[in-house]
Amino acid sequence: MSSETEATTVVESEPQGIEAAHQVIDRADHSISRKSIPENVLKVLYRLHRSGYRAYLCGGSVRDLLMAREPKDFDIVTDAHPGDVRRLFRNSRIIGRRFRLVHVIFQDGVVEVATFRREPEKVEGDGLLVTDDNVFGSPVEDARRRDFTINGLFYSIADFTVIDYVGGLRDLEDRLIRVIGVPDLRFQEDPVRMLRAVEFAARLDFEIEASTYDAITEHRNEILKASPPRVSEEILELLRRGWSSSAVELLAETRLLEPLLPELQSRLDRGGVDYFWTMLQVLDRTVGSGRRISDAVLFSVLVLPHVIEEIERESALREGKLRVGDMLLHIRELIQPIVDRFAFSAGMRHQTEQALETLWRLLEPPSDKRSMWRFVFREHFSDGLALLELYARSSNRYLGVCQQWQSFAQKVRRSEDVERPRPPRKRRRRR
Ligand code: ATP
Ligand code: MG
Repeated sequence: MSSETEATTVVESEPQGIEAAHQVIDRADHSISRKSIPENVLKVLYRLHRSGYRAYLCGGSVRDLLMAREPKDFDIVTDAHPGDVRRLFRNSRIIGRRFRLVHVIFQDGVVEVATFRREPEKVEGDGLLVTDDNVFGSPVEDARRRDFTINGLFYSIADFTVIDYVGGLRDLEDRLIRVIGVPDLRFQEDPVRMLRAVEFAARLDFEIEASTYDAITEHRNEILKASPPRVSEEILELLRRGWSSSAVELLAETRLLEPLLPELQSRLDRGGVDYFWTMLQVLDRTVGSGRRISDAVLFSVLVLPHVIEEIERESALREGKLRVGDMLLHIRELIQPIVDRFAFSAGMRHQTEQALETLWRLLEPPSDKRSMWRFVFREHFSDGLALLELYARSSNRYLGVCQQWQSFAQKVRRSEDVERPRPPRKRRRRR
């Protein structure tokens, strides 16, 4: 990336009379090359441009290209309205109700094109929570309605410049997550942005800028006003891709974890759960090595310290005589309010319950091979074993049991050397 002195500062006359100072970084002074932009994306950008529209790459793709990382997706923004874009590309369709976008469909994927939008007017009485944001705007308005400065950069296909209305280039250099505008207001408008701040800080290894950080600690309880499915998706996203350890650390440090998972926050506050932090590191290495871990296992990791503590307490109360059936019932009771809070789908609830239950069942393997075999073929066995592996490797407990199951499951899957037990024969009723 170029240093700031090489950048040109321009004052552009915007529609609606807004004058916005912004930096334009010439092609020679930044590192984005068209070679790192997929062909389909370039095709869409060029066709919009040749048809007389502005065509910018925006959001995470510009940020990641400037950091020499591979973008997850390439989003395009333009002043063409969705109908105009639809007409330009035969292979396209308009999608979305909340804000309309155009998907241009290619054989090997979809390119998403949005129209510049601005933050909608506040409706009186509705507080600050934004519920409808389908209002077209200018480039500067579009940049300013975005969440963080590093996510508000544009790359123009007209002259290959990078355009910065929000100070994103500087924050990229300083490795800072900074809210665009007034953090208090922006987090109240959309509390999920607090989780996104944590995600980007963990993922890019950036600091959260001070006023953004303070606003998170101040408004953290407002996360409960956000739609639970968005919140759950964001939480899972924090765990899925190899940065769970620093993300959860930040959640705990800002106490944004408190309204979401008070059970975990208070457990962490009391300390003595080193295995939990190690488990997140093991999880990050595991997903980093390309192994897929189900959402149910990911979520179970977060509730495990609470569940273990409660089961141990219950077990102590009954002087170690907690029967399996009671234990499973207890696990269900423990996680019910938590999965309710996250409004998980019925499938995800069931899978989470089963992952945890299977973990406890695996801790005491059946004594005969036939029962073990049946276990391996149960639907939730791999989730239970994945959880056991994570737990055993981080707590150094149950390592033997874990190995026993791993090698048995491997053998069963290779199958030849273990004989599959026959299902019990059904007796035919005599007529
Ligand atoms: P990723 O690499 O994870 O895709 P991203 O920055 O592209 O990261 P997206 O969720 O794909 O994130 O969103 C695309 C862009 O839309 C963001 O870069 C940001 O500019 C804007 N955006 C997304 N969510 C919000 C939000 N809640 N509030 C404001 N702007 C947002
Ligand atoms: Mg993206």
